Amino acid sequence: MKTPSEFRAEAHKMADFIADYFEQIENYPVKSQVKPGEILNQLPLLPPGSSESMSAIMADFEKIIMPGITHWQNPNFFAFFPANSSYPSVLAEMLTAALGQQGMIWETSPAAAELEERVMEWLKEMCGLPENWTGVIQDTASASTLAALLTAREKATNFRINDDGFQSPDKLRIYCSTETHSSIEKAVKIAGFGRRNLVKIIVDKDFALIPEELEKAILKDKNAGYLPVCVIGSIGTTGSTAVDPIKEIGEICQKHNIWFHVDAAFSGTALVLPEMRHFAAGLELADSYVFNPHKWMFTNFDCSAYFVRDPEMLIRTFEILPEYLKTKTRGQVNDYRDWGVALGRRFRALKLWFVIRNFGVEEIKNKIRKHIELARWFADEIEKSTDFEILAPVQFSLVCFRLKPLSVNDPEQLNTINELLLHKLNASGLVYLTHTKLNGIYTLRMVIAQTHVEFTHVKKAWKLIREIAREL
Ligand SMILES: *Cc1c(COP(=O)(O)O)cnc(C)c1O
Repeated sequence: MKTPSEFRAEAHKMADFIADYFEQIENYPVKSQVKPGEILNQLPLLPPGSSESMSAIMADFEKIIMPGITHWQNPNFFAFFPANSSYPSVLAEMLTAALGQQGMIWETSPAAAELEERVMEWLKEMCGLPENWTGVIQDTASASTLAALLTAREKATNFRINDDGFQSPDKLRIYCSTETHSSIEKAVKIAGFGRRNLVKIIVDKDFALIPEELEKAILKDKNAGYLPVCVIGSIGTTGSTAVDPIKEIGEICQKHNIWFHVDAAFSGTALVLPEMRHFAAGLELADSYVFNPHKWMFTNFDCSAYFVRDPEMLIRTFEILPEYLKTKTRGQVNDYRDWGVALGRRFRALKLWFVIRNFGVEEIKNKIRKHIELARWFADEIEKSTDFEILAPVQFSLVCFRLKPLSVNDPEQLNTINELLLHKLNASGLVYLTHTKLNGIYTLRMVIAQTHVEFTHVKKAWKLIREIAREL
């Protein structure tokens, strides 16, 4: 393909292909059914020396690649947390690729920098976040949390570790709950604290951090000569969407002068609903906060919204100024290369802008509200049935449950039958659910949050779950 007119013809075909895909998406098995190596073995060992036609490439795409696709955009996808796309998001992503912006500094793409500034303000307003916060888009929640930990580290040591590196008597500590996402442990390792200095605080019966236990651990560490640097709280843990007591944790952090980072990667989108904002009470006490529009806000992966109370702290942590990046506009504009790990930055604000404008805030709210209602309906069905039970409070759109026939009481046997149930559900290709363990109990997770999920899909899934359970 060499000319705009050749591109035009192929792009029109691609638009049709994508529209057909969305029309027929429910005909594909939700979870890819291929075996390890099955795709790899069909791919030539060496790249082609000469040009291949788009029709040859697309034919192989359909034959080789499609069977290895797990259909995250299928409304019968109830696994993990969603990575939602939507029509406006796909269109924006086409433009993003066409423009090929590299938004490392304002000058390399003024529109990318300024649109990012504005859409982050929109998100703040949409979710009722504290007005004095400033936002920046990161690739993932993992990168946002790493940025938080590095900033906390520098603030606590007066920017000494950036200059000198860790010194042998450094005894810095990080705190989170036993239910916190694994990205926290990863960030603790990368930021140089050492995994042993991540203190995991026990949770209550609803899987929320116990603030009294947190304060006890902080005091104990202080007495032993440690410097508490950062506490990570969650609004919606990955296992069960548990919500830590944000206000109490924030007050403890304030009292002991500790950075408070809040991870709301999935559930943060629910704050568009005023009736869900009680979960975020006390959030103004946080120093940093992350949620992922690429999970529940219909903006395709990747797009993570990171907010900080004090952008100067963030910039001082990451700032670097080689001669070749010096500009006249420095200081008047946001040069986002200093706001995170990577220098190069994609134009991620564009898809968020398309999504927010094309849906409109009301429609985003309606969809989120519907997902939460569908989860409530599914949970009610489980509660009414004699053979299933709920295993964690249903606060957003995740239902944690298991098959629990009256006749079976052995914990190991229950774990085994639920594992088998999950396997059979996913092998059917009709739905895709994943699991976690809560207090050692094998737990099925039903996440009802896909962009196009409707009541019919949830009803069908519940019928299938009961049918397969009966056959076990
Ligand atoms: C999904 C998730 C993450 C990780 O998100 P990435 O954007 O993939 O890094 C972190 N924390 C929680 C609570 C999550 O649910």
